[in-house]
Amino acid sequence: MNEADITLRDSRSDAKSYRVCKVDLLCPYCGFYSPAEGPVPTMKSALVVCHRCHEAVMLQAANVLTPGSPVLDYYPKKLPTVDPFVPNDIADDYLEAQRCFSAGACMDVL
Ligand SMILES: [Zn+2]
Repeated sequence: MNEADITLRDSRSDAKSYRVCKVDLLCPYCGFYSPAEGPVPTMKSALVVCHRCHEAVMLQAANVLTPGSPVLDYYPKKLPTVDPFVPNDIADDYLEAQRCFSAGACMDVL
């Protein structure tokens, strides 16, 4: 999942005392492209709950979370996994590389 995999569909106050946003995202927990919905505690961030697995994902925008505005970042990142049959030394290197890519630490090298 990357920021381009998140589509903000709606962000409004409805009848609640706080803003609610509805998004479609590639969930970092269940791995499915799913609708999610949740409160917008600040103008730049939202906490949405995946409709499929009911886990929460935090979204961050540059200015205001509105439909069409890009999502700058999200948390948590998808936890990398490796097949148990991969040798440990190779698996450790692979998992470390995946963590570096998800944190954006390797972007300057490419
Ligand atoms: Zn999910």
